[in-house]
Amino acid sequence: MVANRTDLRGELREHEPLARHTSWRVGGPARRFYRPADADDLVAFLRQLDPSEPVFWLGLGSNLLVPDAGFQGTVIQTQGSLTRMEQRGDTGLYAESGVACAKLARYAARQGLVGAEFLAGIPGTLGGALAMNAGAWGGETWSQVAGVRTIDRHGQVRARSPADFTVGYREVKGPEGEWFLDALLELAPGDGEAGMGRIRELLEQRARTQPTGLPSCGSVFRNPPGDHAARLIESIGLKGYRLGGAQVSEKHANFIINTGAASARDIGSLIEHVRREVERQTGVRLVPEVRMVGGGSQ
Ligand SMILES: Cc1cc2nc3c(=O)[nH]c(=O)nc-3n(C[C@H](O)[C@H](O)[C@H](O)COP(=O)(O)OP(=O)(O)OC[C@H]3O[C@@H](n4cnc5c(N)ncnc54)[C@H](O)[C@@H]3O)c2cc1C
Repeated sequence: MVANRTDLRGELREHEPLARHTSWRVGGPARRFYRPADADDLVAFLRQLDPSEPVFWLGLGSNLLVPDAGFQGTVIQTQGSLTRMEQRGDTGLYAESGVACAKLARYAARQGLVGAEFLAGIPGTLGGALAMNAGAWGGETWSQVAGVRTIDRHGQVRARSPADFTVGYREVKGPEGEWFLDALLELAPGDGEAGMGRIRELLEQRARTQPTGLPSCGSVFRNPPGDHAARLIESIGLKGYRLGGAQVSEKHANFIINTGAASARDIGSLIEHVRREVERQTGVRLVPEVRMVGGGSQ
């Protein structure tokens, strides 16, 4: 369905099941779901939106637990819409927030730019990676950021520098009420062939150690300082533990998988069970990395 304002060019759906848009394959409907045609269309959409309407930004839904009750507001989907990407100057890479990390990593390598290979195995968008400071194998998103543009609830766009954000491990704090529209990454000139080789190597390593083919959201908990959440969970015998249709992965104990018919409630209850048991038996309080729609971190 096309948005009901004639000057809007995006796609508006009502009661869109969010299970279709999350890597856990769970979550109830969004009251409204908007996929903008492009950045200008997004600005126009936000300008006409009722200021009291709750808004949630969705990338590829690879780090999200959406409740079974869904979301009583408007979800904005960047994936498949904000997808422009180009090289800027010798070593700059400009990309809109809906560009998939895997695509960005390969594009950079093809241009002979190195430093973004680690993004290849992160199954999210650049926007999600900026929001989470996604990282892997020693690389982190914000180490490459030269600048971003944000957009607020009223459609106002601002250029921001990394200094406007406090960036930590899977954590980014910036100006309230602004989301990422696009970013300029500063990469290093290098051997693109070697970059592609590194990407293949990292993906193989991932497939060996993670249940990549099953519905999950990657690591559920942040690693506590000096330790690994997976090691703690395994040490108390929870590998393979099931609750309803949710299961602690046999392959990687910090992954929870949907075995087929899990509800968001099953997954949420299993997260809570793991957190409680790890704290009771080891004294370590794990902090979820996963975001809850309508509730910040889990
Ligand atoms: C198999 C698997 C492996 C994974 N491996 C890794 C890994 O190695 N390292 C790692 O860091 N993560 C990993 N993840 C988690 C996930 O892919 C990352 O957190 C990713 O950055 C999320 O991006 P997304 O587009 O899917 O965001 P979503 O899940 O859609 O959203 C996550 C959060 O980002 C916000 N957000 C999304 N877009 C924007 C935007 N444009 N502006 C502002 N906020 C926005 C959302 O509102 C939400 O709060 C993995 C997940 C899976 C399923």
